[in-house]
Amino acid sequence: MKIGGFVRSSLVDYPGKVAAVIFTQGCNFRCPYCHNPQLVYPEFFTEPVPFEYVWEFLGERRGLLEGVVFSGGEPTLQDDLPEVIRKVRSLGYAVKLDTNGSNPDVLAEVLPHLDYIAMDIKAPFGDAYARVCGVTMDDYEIRRSMLLIRATGLSYAFRTTFHSEFMPIEEKDKIKKHLGRHEIYVIQEANEKISNNAQSLNG
Ligand code: SF4
Repeated sequence: MKIGGFVRSSLVDYPGKVAAVIFTQGCNFRCPYCHNPQLVYPEFFTEPVPFEYVWEFLGERRGLLEGVVFSGGEPTLQDDLPEVIRKVRSLGYAVKLDTNGSNPDVLAEVLPHLDYIAMDIKAPFGDAYARVCGVTMDDYEIRRSMLLIRATGLSYAFRTTFHSEFMPIEEKDKIKKHLGRHEIYVIQEANEKISNNAQSLNG
């Protein structure tokens, strides 16, 4: 696993848990508002954090930390993601995955080994999707990932990063139409100061 960053303790990345965060290197999207270019563009990659360091740290913090978050970049691009998730969970940690939802086949493999998943919905389905994620793609894979997540019974949230330069405000409402009434939906405002606006569609 190529680890581009490692946060040893976070209170904000895993709802209700103190968690370490593993940021993987590489992403198949090119969202124009991305705040982690060092995890997306190979020319900005830094020397990866050795997995052995992360493994040793997690072994020492058992009972102190509650969870581990895999974020990115896009973690599902890492060939050994399923294996690493299983290893980390064997230490007793709850595991959360952050994903852009573009790899439903990998999701199908890892979902049984997760405790929480947060998936981006970048835009309303249709032409807008490629515009916002910056690459030519078919949103069929995104819809497949949503169906898989809903079928697991796992705790999950869908989320959208909103930047007015790249998404007309009315598209926010179009996205909500893709979601169930009681699903957790988080809108992140992509400003210099990112603010998290957790809201239920119900509320
Ligand atoms: S999916 Fe996330 S990491 Fe990848 S380019 Fe978009 S915002 Fe950046």
